[in-house]
Amino acid sequence: MRPLIIGGGPAGTAAAITLAERGVSARLIERRVHRSSEKACGGLLTPRAARLLVSLGLEIESIGRPIDSIDLVARGRRQRVGWPTSTGVGAGVGSTSGIVVSRTRLDSALLDRAGELGVEVELGCEALEPIVDRGFVRGVRTANGDVESTEAADLLLVADGANSTFGRALGTTRRQDWPSVSALRVVLESTSADRRGIEFHLDLERGPGDGLPGFGWVFPVDDNTVNVGVQVASTARDATAVNLHLLLERLLERIAGPWGVSEDPADAVERAEGTRTPVGDSIVPVAGPNFLVAGDAAGHASPLTGGGIEAALRLGIEAGEVLTAATRTAPDALQAFVPRVRAIHADHHKAARQIVRLSGRPLGSRLLAMLATTSWGAPTMMRFALAEFRATGGAAETLHSVAKLLGRVAPEA
Ligand SMILES: Cc1cc2nc3c(=O)[nH]c(=O)nc-3n(C[C@H](O)[C@H](O)[C@H](O)COP(=O)(O)OP(=O)(O)OC[C@H]3O[C@@H](n4cnc5c(N)ncnc54)[C@H](O)[C@@H]3O)c2cc1C
Repeated sequence: MRPLIIGGGPAGTAAAITLAERGVSARLIERRVHRSSEKACGGLLTPRAARLLVSLGLEIESIGRPIDSIDLVARGRRQRVGWPTSTGVGAGVGSTSGIVVSRTRLDSALLDRAGELGVEVELGCEALEPIVDRGFVRGVRTANGDVESTEAADLLLVADGANSTFGRALGTTRRQDWPSVSALRVVLESTSADRRGIEFHLDLERGPGDGLPGFGWVFPVDDNTVNVGVQVASTARDATAVNLHLLLERLLERIAGPWGVSEDPADAVERAEGTRTPVGDSIVPVAGPNFLVAGDAAGHASPLTGGGIEAALRLGIEAGEVLTAATRTAPDALQAFVPRVRAIHADHHKAARQIVRLSGRPLGSRLLAMLATTSWGAPTMMRFALAEFRATGGAAETLHSVAKLLGRVAPEA
């Protein structure tokens, strides 16, 4: 059995590398023709995500810039924090700081690594629709340019990103009442990009006093450019009416001076682009009789941060391991994926969904922004947001337990 992987983002490539490292021959198809087409992303990787890249055989120094400090900014207050110390995945191996990457470089490096290990990678190849017989995927109809073909597939990984048309064709659906996030980013030239610190602006407002559940960011990408973006959760009142372009313009006005960037998004090196991302395990099912779904296609990104690269890498690796087992036994082995995903982040995502609901009320978002800009609150919020909990306990750990408890008594949402 040779697994077929749809999508050459972090989830698909992490799975492909994992399979190849275990001696399983795999094929990956990616619809983008050129590796250099940039994706709409902030490109911030947590220390844990950076360590996952190292474990997959990548040299992170060549694809990203280390970030030493994080400024949380709201209503004229600014609180600087470092990265929470890790006790979890890959602790003690490689990077202890996060990095900002260009997505072109990251995705290219992952595809190169998969190719080096013997994965058959086909660029410009789009999966059009599954061929299903009695619930089992038997093949995939694909197109490369004008050439359409049908390929047999007895094990499949769907990792086609946030919109996941292929996943939906296989029957995945989003829990409509669970939070999702919408984000928009632009890349601009900057005269002040040679820093190793990033900023999060936690006081996005629709109008005076009408706080939104979300944040703005400024990340230096290289010595000459910065990535500036905004993100808002669907728990905002009348969320579909929130104008992300307007929020981005307001953020640019605020940061133009200190960061030496143009206030006009039209001056961008990479124009304003974004999308809505399902988060917090809101997509079901993620395992079928002979297929798995991982990364944004499965809603694996964090409900709090919208960051999905770490989850895509981590769940891509898990999918690769489970697919390996299935090639050696039977497709039934794929069912192990669901409890593995649950063990990794179900509790944290459940707790995080409650916080995102709270921040959907103007008072809730103000309260959280205020807390995050205190010397006690900032590291607590960082540990909670990144799920870097200490065995010795503390405020973030208590917050996590309380939110988990509330999640158990509240309806599953
Ligand atoms: C504006 C914005 C900013 C963000 N910033 C951050 C951040 O700073 N840090 C972070 O961790 N996360 C961030 N995210 C989220 C992050 O981009 C995603 O969570 C991550 O890319 C998910 O990886 P993936 O492999 O699941 O999907 P993707 O990276 O989307 O990869 C899916 C791949 O599948 C391919 N594909 C799609 N359909 C088909 C098909 N039918 N056939 C073949 N190939 C197909 C696509 O071309 C794509 O390459 C941001 C998202 C947005 C919108």
